[in-house]
Amino acid sequence: MAVISYFIKFLSKSGAVATFILAALIFTLGGIKWSVPILTFFILSSLLSKLRKRKNADVDTYFEKSGVRDHMQVLANGGLGGVLVVINWIYPDEIFFLLYTAGLASVCADTWATEIGTWKKTATYNILNLKPVIQGASGGVSWLGTGGALAGSLAIAFSGILWVEFSYILYVILIFLAGLAGCFVDSVLGASVQRQNKCSICAGITERRIHCGLPAEYYKGIKLINNDVVNFLAGMSGAFLILILNSIIKF
Ligand SMILES: [Zn+2]
Repeated sequence: MAVISYFIKFLSKSGAVATFILAALIFTLGGIKWSVPILTFFILSSLLSKLRKRKNADVDTYFEKSGVRDHMQVLANGGLGGVLVVINWIYPDEIFFLLYTAGLASVCADTWATEIGTWKKTATYNILNLKPVIQGASGGVSWLGTGGALAGSLAIAFSGILWVEFSYILYVILIFLAGLAGCFVDSVLGASVQRQNKCSICAGITERRIHCGLPAEYYKGIKLINNDVVNFLAGMSGAFLILILNSIIKF
């Protein structure tokens, strides 16, 4: 799949290598159970990304990266899963599978919020001060994007359902909520600390390092916190919420 994804431009060369290593690790140590959720995320998100590009390509200029994913993006979304599958292999415990799907639900909710939210031109607001922002801006939220987040989180919640050892309903609700929480954290970090650059040609504010063919200059945010770091932290937050809930209600 990594090779096919490279040829159909879902992944860059480095993204394909990272995907191959991560997928091999997850399948070898976690089997089908751990593979289905990440495949669900990968396949459906890649398809959504391609569909969105066809419908609304100009939003792409504001994103840090285009629909072709590189290794840092793969690790930002799947790295936590790679770590958890190894920990679970050494110290088997069902909680790690829940943390894994919660983290995936967060990054999937965030990805689908972006892909579906930019499907067509729609009013977008900064999540912190609710002022109108350009569609595709970091920390921007819209009704359509929120619908995408709900769908993305639910898709991952259902993808793990066959292997749950307690109430299916409780499992779906937990993972769904964790995914939404992670996605919310993603937007808040995107609107506050994530690095933004300013294009020296069109003066547009962007996550991208290159804009209008030239390097964009630092504008605001913490220099080291790019979109990949924010995505990774969003996944961690979703998983962390499950840890907190588990310590309260023990499932
Ligand atoms: Zn520009």
